[in-house]
Amino acid sequence: MKFSAPKGMQDILPPDIYIWQNVEEVARELFHKYGFQEIRVPIVESTDIFIRSIGETTDIVEKEMYTFTDKGGRSITLRPEGTAPVVRCYVEHNLYNLPSPQKFFYTGAMFRYERPQKGRFRQFYQIGAEAFGVSQPSLDAEIIVMLKNLLEKIGIAGLNFELNSIGCDKCRPDYKNALLKFFKSKLAIYCPDCQRRYRTNPLRILDCKVPGCVELRKGAPYVKDYLCNDCREHFNELIFSLKELKIPYTLNPNLVRGLDYYTRTTFEVTSEHLGAQKAVAAGGRYDRLVEEFGGPPTPAMGFAIGMERLATLLKEKSEQKIPSPKVFIATLGRDAEMEGFKIAESIRSSGCWIEPNYGGASLKSQMRKADRIGAEFVLIIGDNELKAGKVQWKNLKNSQQGEVEIKDIASIIQKLSDYIPK
Ligand code: ATP
Ligand code: MG
Repeated sequence: MKFSAPKGMQDILPPDIYIWQNVEEVARELFHKYGFQEIRVPIVESTDIFIRSIGETTDIVEKEMYTFTDKGGRSITLRPEGTAPVVRCYVEHNLYNLPSPQKFFYTGAMFRYERPQKGRFRQFYQIGAEAFGVSQPSLDAEIIVMLKNLLEKIGIAGLNFELNSIGCDKCRPDYKNALLKFFKSKLAIYCPDCQRRYRTNPLRILDCKVPGCVELRKGAPYVKDYLCNDCREHFNELIFSLKELKIPYTLNPNLVRGLDYYTRTTFEVTSEHLGAQKAVAAGGRYDRLVEEFGGPPTPAMGFAIGMERLATLLKEKSEQKIPSPKVFIATLGRDAEMEGFKIAESIRSSGCWIEPNYGGASLKSQMRKADRIGAEFVLIIGDNELKAGKVQWKNLKNSQQGEVEIKDIASIIQKLSDYIPK
């Protein structure tokens, strides 16, 4: 019986895992400089948390959630995204009593029951950041700059920052009405999904990828023309800041995002190298969500990066450095093997990756193994070497070899590496 991973879910193995670890390390270090602290929230939450925040008529809630009843009869959902759990956590622990802003980041698995395809999985990973307590557009700008810096630091260039404002509770109804009016006359020839969206969530028609609908919505009312004064000012100030900070962006009036909780700023970072699923990261403001979760009115803003799509870009970009052991210890006989284990321990304490021999094999096959696993050095220990308190060494990269006293091994490993031609 052979098993495979669940549909749409994948194993992340070495050497790919090193790409992921590097992104996570760089993000941790960089986010810290902007005052974002890590939090870890559960992988499951009460289903209501997602329905209330993401919205009943969104794709995620209607079609994509992994929802089940636990043994206590509660409806539980594997988190499809990180913002709602972080807001739940912020309110539950009264974090609004701490000085504003409070800034957090998280990394972890998300789950959506989607049709698996390139760049779209049922379990995928995000790095997300959320900041609470600042309504000024300078926060929006800072978050966008932080994201840009991260993407640059890990070596991804040529990304496009798409930007929009979808207004607030005050101005969005007017915009919705204008859209309804525009769509109404040709509604019958929109796709079935858009006909449903017309009734439930008309803004999402702007986001439809069906070519016929893309054509039909040309000339649709532009959200920018419907923003109230406050929202317009917020958006203009954000644009001004991005210009000052020299962050290139494109205005995309169709960027409405698939989650209901957004207000004002929405943005997406896209790459032309990813095919249809081209968004690497996405986010926006959600100034009403904390209040909806029972907290005091607290403006907030965040984003999430899709790790799989980022890893795809990084893999395409350059040849990957694959870590390998520095030293392999070849041993002949039980006594030598024991000595080999002791030597391995002393070298490890100096900080390098070392593989011992686990017994049995001939010297020839051990040498072959050392080569196959990419070791830089082999130390060879047999009975004669043991008696003399010495080991043979061989540099597999340049074939130099010699002998060294056992007590000196750890200290000369570093020196021996210097012999490796660069
Ligand atoms: P998309 O338009 O690609 O469906 P989305 O609007 O559903 O994205 P968000 O909820 O904003 O995505 O998630 C932020 C990021 O997480 C996306 O930009 C993408 O990089 C990644 N992401 C979302 N869904 C998936 C998935 N099913 N598989 C892999 N990555 C995903
Ligand atoms: Mg989606």
